[in-house]
Amino acid sequence: MKYISTRGQAPVLGFEEVLLTGLATDGGLYVPETLPHYSLEEIRSWRELPYDELAYKIIQPFVAEFIDGDELRAMLKDTYAGFAHKAVVPVQQIDHNEYVMELFHGPTLAFKDFALQLLGRLLDHALQKRGEKAVIMGATSGDTGSAAIEGCRRCNNIDIFILHPHQRVSEVQRRQMTTVLGDNIFNLAVEGNFDDCQRMVKESFSDQSFLRGERRLVAVNSINWARIMAQIVYYFYAALNLGAPDRKMAFSVPTGNFGDIFAGYLAMQMGLPIDQLVIATNKNDVLHRVMSQNQYEALPLEHTLSPSMDIVVSSNFERLLFDLYDRDGAAIAQLMKDMASGQATLDVAKLDKARIVFDSACVDDDETCATIRQVHAETGYLLDPHTAIGVHAARATRRDMRVPMITLGTAHPVKFAEAVQKSGLESPALPHHLADLLSRAERYDVLPNDRNTVHAYMVERVFG
Ligand SMILES: *Cc1c(COP(=O)(O)O)cnc(C)c1O
Repeated sequence: MKYISTRGQAPVLGFEEVLLTGLATDGGLYVPETLPHYSLEEIRSWRELPYDELAYKIIQPFVAEFIDGDELRAMLKDTYAGFAHKAVVPVQQIDHNEYVMELFHGPTLAFKDFALQLLGRLLDHALQKRGEKAVIMGATSGDTGSAAIEGCRRCNNIDIFILHPHQRVSEVQRRQMTTVLGDNIFNLAVEGNFDDCQRMVKESFSDQSFLRGERRLVAVNSINWARIMAQIVYYFYAALNLGAPDRKMAFSVPTGNFGDIFAGYLAMQMGLPIDQLVIATNKNDVLHRVMSQNQYEALPLEHTLSPSMDIVVSSNFERLLFDLYDRDGAAIAQLMKDMASGQATLDVAKLDKARIVFDSACVDDDETCATIRQVHAETGYLLDPHTAIGVHAARATRRDMRVPMITLGTAHPVKFAEAVQKSGLESPALPHHLADLLSRAERYDVLPNDRNTVHAYMVERVFG
């Protein structure tokens, strides 16, 4: 399988290069040149497969030239064996024909584990093959950092440095990062805010000379194709468990960077019968504005009770636009240029193509809490604020009550206690495997908000 850039000017690459590269040299994102397509009969034959074997069916064609089939099978088994629920993705019913697929049974209690647990293993495999070592550097306001650290904790060829703003992440979030003790794991509490951390990471990627040309710097943010690929699997898994492909399904997806929902769109392109995909946003609603008013414009960031969806622009939306514009890289490059200078307008015919399957809704903090309260009152089931946005948007936009509506449960409510308490409910206890989180030993270093100091710290850890 070959991969091409959404802006049409970067070299065509294989999976291994795409895995290690991140952004294409023309500023675009990599997508597969063609997608595998499966018949209903073939999809039906996957019904009995456990999660890791279904993952093998779906992922194997994307990575065939990179990893041997048996090795991939073993890697996937190992990846998802670490999840705390035997089904990996249990599906919970919350109303007649309405469901939540629980994506929060991984080590850090959020859906990012599905991709990052696999990404760490894939990266380590690639580096081992090449006889190279790499450095991962990332900034986090909480969620992605812990999932990345957990994903890399057993990697022999990777040192990982995660920067978080000192004293500005919650204790649970900090401890999910700092209690993972490994020789290759470094948590840096930077005396600054999240933007300072992010700026430092960006600058380090654009000038990597501090690594002396001896180490590759690798990004694990959501534009990495391998993350999206891993997320296609659970759309198939939940749908098959509810009677697909002999019934259509609808999905509602709490959305930030458009990575998770783009995986759903790919599942549909690969043959899964999907009737509706709901883009559920919080007040940072750039995607809802483009879908409903053709206004594609970055507005200032708003802080909400669903912080993992607090974004200004959704980078992976470019991948959908590429398809809508019939894979015309030049048109996408122009559109992204317009967007970068403030605002872009889409061709109405292209937008209408998206509207065939996508709906959208923007959900504010009050509606989020009302939904947490309502679902709890109706069923006893506690939603996290991101998932609540998905449920609210699903109910507001639903097209056909006969089609099962599945909201993606992206996080465990214990991670977002503030929203649960604001809803008038008691925060749940930490799950069994994290029960002693607050008494585990922590390791992190507090560093000044200064790039040279951070680089010197990294160089000393990497080269000794
Ligand atoms: C990252 C995240 C999201 C948004 O996912 P995208 O792929 O960026 O759209 C939603 N909910 C939670 C809990 C997250 O951590």
